[in-house]
Amino acid sequence: MLHRAHDYKHLVARWRRVARAAGLRLRPLAQDDGFDLFYVETPHLAGNSGLYLSAGIHGDEPAAPEALVRWAERNAARLATMPLLIFPCLNSWGLRNNMRTDSQGRDLNRMFHEDSHPVVAAVRRVTRPHRFHIALPMHEDYDAQGIYLYEVQRGRHGFGEELLRRAAKILPVDPRVKIDTSIAKDGLIRRRISRKKFETMGYPEAIWLHLFHSQNTFTFETPSEASLELRVSAHIAVLDECARRIAK
Ligand SMILES: [Zn+2]
Repeated sequence: MLHRAHDYKHLVARWRRVARAAGLRLRPLAQDDGFDLFYVETPHLAGNSGLYLSAGIHGDEPAAPEALVRWAERNAARLATMPLLIFPCLNSWGLRNNMRTDSQGRDLNRMFHEDSHPVVAAVRRVTRPHRFHIALPMHEDYDAQGIYLYEVQRGRHGFGEELLRRAAKILPVDPRVKIDTSIAKDGLIRRRISRKKFETMGYPEAIWLHLFHSQNTFTFETPSEASLELRVSAHIAVLDECARRIAK
């Protein structure tokens, strides 16, 4: 029996309620592995001031889609006034089955350089006309020893420290100096992209966003071993800070 956070139908029902309360609608994104996927676009999404949010591209990282829907529920009254493009769950089969990949073993987060995956192709199509002030793909990591954040560097430093500071009120920062293969400092991995590296491994969502759509691109990670409630709260703290920054 999977935890409720893996119940995709329940997640969609909650998003339907949020959308109705906010005066928005769930728009069909794609059909994949027998699931209907949706997205939310608010009428204020224009120019380059918006916020791109996505969760659930890895199905074994349930705090992300749970946090995103809960954040939307809490902000339903003002959701439509914010410039948002939201992908509530990009891998519904994975969420349902507690798997990182889709049913064919594909990691969607390595496929954003091309249109071969129906969900990724749909995200690329829907996103094409938009530019964002902030983009935030939301993730979890079972190796993590605390929260951490990737910031794709563009010119002068961004505000990754501030996002981490908010979340660090809920969960400790990962103390490692090397996370995955990257150098980290107080939970922040700030790096320039190497096109060559990503052309070999396939583009993650964040790299595609940085190259074509967003000024400030982050990937926030919570440690899967911490309690679900704390992981959800940490994600919500980052979402709140991103929302505050686009409202400025
Ligand atoms: Zn992930």
